[in-house]
Amino acid sequence: MPSTDGDPGVAPRAISILGATGSIGMSTLDLLVRNRDRFRVQSVTAQRNAEGLAKAAITLGARFAAIAQPAAYGALKSALSGTAIEAAAGDEAVIEAAARPADLVMASISGAAGLAPTMAAIERGTTVAIANKECLVCAGALFMRRAAARGTTILPVDSEHNALFQALGAGRRCDVRRLILTASGGPFRTWTAEAVRNATVEQALRHPNWSMGAKVTIDSATLMNKGLELIEAHHLFQTPARDIDVFVHPQSIVHGIVEFRDGSLVAQLGAPDMRIPISHCLGWPERLAEPARWLRLEELASLTFEPPDLVRFPALRIARTALEEGAGAPTVLNAANEVAVAEFLAGRLGFAAIPALVEATLDAAARKGMVREPASVEEALALDRTARSIAGELTASASAVLH
Ligand code: NDP
Repeated sequence: MPSTDGDPGVAPRAISILGATGSIGMSTLDLLVRNRDRFRVQSVTAQRNAEGLAKAAITLGARFAAIAQPAAYGALKSALSGTAIEAAAGDEAVIEAAARPADLVMASISGAAGLAPTMAAIERGTTVAIANKECLVCAGALFMRRAAARGTTILPVDSEHNALFQALGAGRRCDVRRLILTASGGPFRTWTAEAVRNATVEQALRHPNWSMGAKVTIDSATLMNKGLELIEAHHLFQTPARDIDVFVHPQSIVHGIVEFRDGSLVAQLGAPDMRIPISHCLGWPERLAEPARWLRLEELASLTFEPPDLVRFPALRIARTALEEGAGAPTVLNAANEVAVAEFLAGRLGFAAIPALVEATLDAAARKGMVREPASVEEALALDRTARSIAGELTASASAVLH
């Protein structure tokens, strides 16, 4: 867990953005553009969006742009022609972008593809602002161990973890009783079980409060996002699963709460805008001014909290069980969920089949004895691949568990 102590940062700070063309990447870009005097940009990366990457690189005056897909290299190179920005392609180029000297790396690639580049930044000792939750879900113990060994500071970007990080500053760790993550409840919070089961892609993509990438939006609708965040919080704050609770808070104003042993609850509140936690990480331990719209307390009718319904939204229960089982189970959970969400988005799987496929994959993996905790990124990726192939087989066989 990062310390809340620290010297004020020295401007301008050198920043690299992994996943610069994504939702978090673009919010980061917005903040960097509005605070040009405080930052300079070293590297930006993307998977295949050459045009978007070139645009981000030029806007930010980056030195290096790396695109994962080799086929996109030509388009990147031509979009950068006439500039002094260096271009490269391939997974190794993305890793190099992460490892180039910087003061802070924004780790905002989506999915397991972010593991190797994020680890490269950690190994270099660069402060890492971590949005790519899959690093912590797939190999959290490994990432935290390597960060501790290298003296790397990890700052949580995810709004709930960023809130907890801020609230933890209010007291001593030994006085913390529990951590509370809030969940919006997603678009189906008030729907009947049957309606949730039959939800369409379009309905699931309509998040009530947050504007995010497709994968994380679907994860919010199933509540798997909160399950992944539970695992993330366990690793970031070295807190046992039993001391981390989740409450549904539909207004998405209170992002995280720390309960201390004297009965004090310290919360972080803010408008539901990722630019607030991102700016906290970019500026930390200082604060950037006006990253997003102000929260107007007088416009809030009420703030409500309710326990999550684990019957209509079993994903959270499945994730908690995987965390309690530990070892490789969270890695399998994450991989199976990525497969399930992709299948759902492609229209090949129903909404209720997402948690069903994840649970069936976990069961199958356990039966095959795939319980070892990944000791390296390679092992985590190997387990990820195996879990994906099990999930793929279960989907292809139209397994009874999915219906
Ligand atoms: P997006 O899908 O919007 O963006 C993903 C970024 O990663 C893009 O730049 C994409 O490039 C790049 N990318 C994807 N696959 C690869 C790959 N194989 N190799 C290299 N780069 C790749 O995701 P988000 O910004 O929504 O989310 C990023 C991470 O942050 C996720 O882990 C998510 O769970 C987490 N997060 C997101 C939040 C949000 O509000 N969006 C909130 C909290 C956490 P390209 O555009 O070329 O495909």
